[in-house]
Amino acid sequence: MVGPVSGCRACGGLISVTMADLGLQPPSNAFLTSLAEAASERRYPLRAAVCERCKLVQVDYDVAPEELFGNYVYFSSYSDEWLAHAAAYCNMAVRRFSLDSHSLVVELASNDGYLLKNFLARGIAVLGIDPSDTVAAAAEKVGVPTLVEFFGEDLAKKLALDGRQADLIIGNNVLAHVPRLNDFIAGIAVLLKPRGTVTIEFPHLLTLIEHVEFDTIYHEHYSYISLYAIEQVFSRHGLRIHDVEQLSTHGGSLRIFASHADRPGLEDSDTLRAVRTSEYAAGLPVLETYSRFAERVELCRRSLKAFLADAARDGKRVAAYGAAAKGNTLLNFCGVSRTDIMMVADRNPHKQGKFLPGTHIPVVSPERMMAQRPDYVLILPWNLQDEIRRQLGGISEWGGKFVTPVPLVRIHP
Ligand SMILES: [Zn+2]
Repeated sequence: MVGPVSGCRACGGLISVTMADLGLQPPSNAFLTSLAEAASERRYPLRAAVCERCKLVQVDYDVAPEELFGNYVYFSSYSDEWLAHAAAYCNMAVRRFSLDSHSLVVELASNDGYLLKNFLARGIAVLGIDPSDTVAAAAEKVGVPTLVEFFGEDLAKKLALDGRQADLIIGNNVLAHVPRLNDFIAGIAVLLKPRGTVTIEFPHLLTLIEHVEFDTIYHEHYSYISLYAIEQVFSRHGLRIHDVEQLSTHGGSLRIFASHADRPGLEDSDTLRAVRTSEYAAGLPVLETYSRFAERVELCRRSLKAFLADAARDGKRVAAYGAAAKGNTLLNFCGVSRTDIMMVADRNPHKQGKFLPGTHIPVVSPERMMAQRPDYVLILPWNLQDEIRRQLGGISEWGGKFVTPVPLVRIHP
């Protein structure tokens, strides 16, 4: 499970074509509390490659989960936007699948019960499954029964034997975090009632490719999913995807709907056909699409290095904004150090006073960074640049400029 991956985690095919070789990287959330820790910092190969046969994009080196996730716990209920997304989903699901007091809804990676509590409130039985005991305890507190387990075929068989098959299985933003993809989907097939439906949400590979979002590649994300690749996995386990919705979450996600392939009356929806067509048009079934992406990633690296070299030559002072995983992938890939970027600002007080993994750039508050009056502020979460520029406000007072790094460096007037 840990180390180089020998074959495609979906079909066992060769994963020989590189989509983004991001070099040796520390786990993206492994912030240092002091520079003394730098000597013992571990780095692992971070490379996204594509399977020659099924075209699943995946990292080809697995890091031990305890090193990736450690004590880091994210509670879904902290985000208002995500809570609204969950409530809207519940309304849709109850209507569309005619759920009532005889139904069972199971969520995989159910977190703190942020979603299932909506079904509970309507008198529908629920079961959460999540390997983190911390979030599971929070879920139990709001009345959502939760099994603290990793989901797979074994657990699904136990539940099915127990007479606990599901009318609806939900998996939101969990698929990318699953190292053993086949075992996970096999489990879904076992747990799902004959007429049940499973819905799964994941960031869409097509968006990643179109926007050159190679900086969303981390060790924590084992796969980067297209409809093309995931339909093959579902079909291998007797499941058929029959509908899909396109969502704006995470910059562009898909929500797929699947059922047992032999369920009578299944038909492909118009949206499903349209997404398939757009993936074909973008070349997702063709290997060259992925090697061309690797070239764009390399151009981005050259562009950022050239910008930093020019800034150093001209005696300009560069700071950055946003101490998130996304920025860490980018900075480590480009071999940036604290001589290139003096500090990175972040609003999260838990990150301030620490150092970025790999580059060891100090993290400070936005106020402290602004007080330094930097010549350039490099916006690492470049997808949120409008919001961040508004928040930080007037750096033009002292002639400062905002800079976005991807797909190529752009200096904003
Ligand atoms: Zn494959």
